[in-house]
Amino acid sequence: MDGEKMGKIIAIFNQKGGVGKTTTSINLASGVGKLGKSVLLADLDPQGNSTSGLGIERDKIEYQIYDVLANDIDVEKAICNSSAENVSLLPSNSQLAGLEVELAREGEWEELLKDKLEQVKDKFDYIFIDCPPSLGILSVIGLIASNSVIIPIQCEYYALEGVSQLFTTIELVKSSYNPGLEIEGVVLSMFDGRTNLSIQVVEEVKEYFKGKVYMSIIPRNVRLAEAPSHGLSIMDYDDKSKGAEAYRELAEEFLEYVE
Ligand code: ADP
Ligand code: MG
Repeated sequence: MDGEKMGKIIAIFNQKGGVGKTTTSINLASGVGKLGKSVLLADLDPQGNSTSGLGIERDKIEYQIYDVLANDIDVEKAICNSSAENVSLLPSNSQLAGLEVELAREGEWEELLKDKLEQVKDKFDYIFIDCPPSLGILSVIGLIASNSVIIPIQCEYYALEGVSQLFTTIELVKSSYNPGLEIEGVVLSMFDGRTNLSIQVVEEVKEYFKGKVYMSIIPRNVRLAEAPSHGLSIMDYDDKSKGAEAYRELAEEFLEYVE
C-alpha cells in the first residue's frame, strides 16, 4: 500500500515580496493534502511564515532546514507534522538567514537542497518549496532542487515588473544545473473583481504567460490574511470562505495538469 511515491518537487517562486508565495504554499499544499496526496512543504524563507502559518512555533523547533543544509542533520529528523491533513513540514526560522553567506564562502552549494530532498522524495507525492523574496543563493538552491516552478503574481500595478529577471534566473538555473526545470503554472493572487485594474492585470498576465495561467484566480479575502495567525490553512480556518473555495479549486486544477 505504502509504495514509492512520485515525489515531484515544485518551487513557489517570485523574487518580489508580498505577492502570495507563502499563502499559496500553505493553502495549495493543504488543498492537495485534503485530496488525499501526501505533501511536504519545505520552508526556504528565513522569515518562516509557512512554518508558523501551519502551526509550528518557529523558535521551538528542534531541527530546521538550516540544520539540514548547514550541519548535515538527517532531513527526516527535521521534518514534522503540520496542522494540515497529509502535510508534513520542513520548518525554517531566522537562523536560515546566515546560510547564504556561509554557502557563498564554501563553494559546492548548488545541489545541497536537491540532495537532501532526494533522500525523502519517495515518501511524498508532492514537495512544495516556499522560496524567499530574493534571487539569491537560497532561491537558486530551491530552483535547482525542483522539477517545476509555480509563479504567484499579485493583481496589482506593476504586476509584471521583475518578471524578466525572474525568467533570467530560471534560464540560468536551467542552462547550468537543471535542464528539466519547467514552468508548472502561474497563480493570479489578490484579485479584486470590483476594480478595472485587477481585470486588466489578469488579461495582461494571461497574454504574457500564454497557456500557463491557472483558471482558479485567488481573490483578495481577509480570511486568507487571518488564517496564518491561527496556525491554520484556510480550509481549516474557514472552509466556507471565498479564499478556501479558490485554493480548493486551485489544488484540483494543479492535480489535473500534473497527473
Ligand atoms: P509572499 O510570501 O510572496 O511574501 P504572502 O503570501 O506572505 O506573500 O502574502 C503577503 C501578505 O498578503 C500576507 O500578509 C498575506 O496574509 C496577505 N495575503 C496573501 N494573499 C492574500 C489574499 N488572497 N487575500 C488577502 N490577503 C492576502
Ligand atoms: Mg513568503
